[in-house]
Amino acid sequence: MNLDAKIPEGPIEQKWTNAKFNYKLVNPANKRKYSVIVVGSGLAGSGAAATLGELGYNVKCFCYQDSPRRAHSIAAQGGINAAKNYQNDGDSVYRLFYDTVKGGDFRSREANVYRLAEVSSNIIDQCVAQGVPFAREYGGMLANRSFGGAQVSRTFYARGQTGQQLLLGAYHSLSRQIGLGQVKMYNRHEMLDVVLVDGVAKGIITRNMVTGKIDRWAADAVVLATGGYSTVFFLSTNAAGCNVTAAWRAYRRGAGFANPCYTQIHPTCIPQEGEHQSKLTLMSESLRNDGRVWVPKTREMAEKVRNAEILPSDVPEDERDYYLERKYPSFGNLAPRDISSRAAKEACDDGRGIAPTGFGVFLDFADAINRLGREVIEERYGNLFDMYENIMGVNAYEQPMQIYPAPHYTMGGLWVDYNLETTIPGLFAMGECNFSDHGANRLGASALMQGLADGYFVAPYVLGNYLGSNIPVGKAGKIDINDPAFEEAENAVKEKIEKMLSIKGNCSPRSIHIELGKIMLDKCGMARDDAGLKEAIEQIKALREKFWTDLKLPGGADELNIELERAGRVADHLEFAELMCRDALERSESCGGHFRVESQTEDGEAVRQDDVFSNATVWEFKGLDQEPAKHVENLVFDYVKPGVRSYK
Ligand SMILES: Cc1cc2nc3c(=O)[nH]c(=O)nc-3n(C[C@H](O)[C@H](O)[C@H](O)COP(=O)(O)OP(=O)(O)OC[C@H]3O[C@@H](n4cnc5c(N)ncnc54)[C@H](O)[C@@H]3O)c2cc1C
Repeated sequence: MNLDAKIPEGPIEQKWTNAKFNYKLVNPANKRKYSVIVVGSGLAGSGAAATLGELGYNVKCFCYQDSPRRAHSIAAQGGINAAKNYQNDGDSVYRLFYDTVKGGDFRSREANVYRLAEVSSNIIDQCVAQGVPFAREYGGMLANRSFGGAQVSRTFYARGQTGQQLLLGAYHSLSRQIGLGQVKMYNRHEMLDVVLVDGVAKGIITRNMVTGKIDRWAADAVVLATGGYSTVFFLSTNAAGCNVTAAWRAYRRGAGFANPCYTQIHPTCIPQEGEHQSKLTLMSESLRNDGRVWVPKTREMAEKVRNAEILPSDVPEDERDYYLERKYPSFGNLAPRDISSRAAKEACDDGRGIAPTGFGVFLDFADAINRLGREVIEERYGNLFDMYENIMGVNAYEQPMQIYPAPHYTMGGLWVDYNLETTIPGLFAMGECNFSDHGANRLGASALMQGLADGYFVAPYVLGNYLGSNIPVGKAGKIDINDPAFEEAENAVKEKIEKMLSIKGNCSPRSIHIELGKIMLDKCGMARDDAGLKEAIEQIKALREKFWTDLKLPGGADELNIELERAGRVADHLEFAELMCRDALERSESCGGHFRVESQTEDGEAVRQDDVFSNATVWEFKGLDQEPAKHVENLVFDYVKPGVRSYK
């Protein structure tokens, strides 16, 4: 497997400029001869499809929702980072780059991160031009707030619904291209395989989720922008429909999968309540700007709170442990996500958790309300407080919120080079489904930035370069869907569907998914160890066996069949989960969101092992019953020297 990252020459500030200058161009009149498939209509997919359409390429865009604007990006709440330095508080492209490399615990590729920071400003300009209603200061300038892992305010926001507003902006640009006929949109189409002709990505196979029809689609290049895989844990903050299928199918066709064990457990989610839930609810990290995190100092007091013998607001000040402020005085409640999540777990493991289950901590706004007044807090976070009250029946202006960490984001994904091309030529991966920018821990408000950077500002250059370098104009758009490669892929998809329908056992896909989630959360969640991971791998294999012998599906293939859709995704999660545990087992250091119990300081802080693990681990599929091959991309840090990541 060739892991040449194709990092451009020159100093880091010049790399993207140099790359853009050296990329091949496609003449404007020839662009219409080329076709591109974009799978995904979230910020990365909509951004890429709209931009490529605007340039004149023929684009086909696919999503499984009933409208592109229902992509999961719509759920993002808190904000999007950009190095505009409107606050004059010391921000710069270099500082955003530095914070992101450090925040990722020195496990990301410097050149990609620098480009991300560099284009961040353009994103805000483009979104404002689209009419995205970012919050503004009294003087009319765009407002900023702080997010974890940074000591400057660089997060642009639209109340607590930033993702929704950004996606509406992208959707509006996409709709323009759909209206012009430049993009053809296929809603409710699920991609179930990538097609390679002579080793090069040339198309996809989809299932029409309403009729069950299996279709072949061909193009000169394929872009996956299919989101993350947090639903491998079953319960997560992601929409229940999010899944790993597209990335996993690409992996099975030869795309390297990088760092699957890097997952982010977000510290501020509403605690799990029971067994009936299909997802968990995020309370945006922006709340930590004004909310203070605490648990009772003693187990006795925690028990009283759990048993509702005392109201949280009545717990005396000197009986509270504001543990983030105590442990990390410089960053306090804005300590990064991995660190805040582990600190919450540590307090709960110590018996001081609140919430009926004991797995909860408080996020308290009393001080902020006293200082700023309720109106200011309402203006900043009103919709989040409403959402909290709707779910929990508690008014968070009066009593602290209860929060607990939950799976949220996945930093691992398809390996891509600087040009966002996977190890399969012609197959690109953008947004959360690639591994590129966040190392072992993503900082808050950086995923929206990455999705839009990839879609709006990187896609047009790298796709043009690929098409211009590899496909002569005379051959553009001339892919035959009757090629045997399409037939083989279509047959494989059909066989899998028929096999799942023919089992006629006793277990629903959901019940197996719940079992998988428990294994993953328990053994490959916030803390991981050698014995637990080995056990998890065996349990996953057994669960996979159960799936393929005891699955029960109602209905048939040629109709709307939600259980069948779910089963296909669970089948892929069952294969993927094993790779995730294998990767976690292999990486015996702690870094970012990946905490190996064996690799910590005496006071429980993560210990990296740069001499062995300063790399990205990339896995190559060798067959389901074979061990995957392990490859590494060594990471070189010329600018941000790896150090102990201290937020104290
Ligand atoms: C609750 C929540 C709040 C968040 N808040 C923030 C925030 O404030 N700031 C921030 O920076 N980040 C935030 N994030 C993270 C961020 O929202 C995501 O990382 C980002 O939106 C992902 O965008 P994407 O375009 O890569 O994928 P998505 O938006 O997930 O889109 C995936 C697309 O791929 C399609 N798709 C997937 N598989 C297939 C398939 N097999 N066939 C066809 N189509 C397919 C889907 O239909 C969808 O259109 C938040 C995440 C969550 C869960």
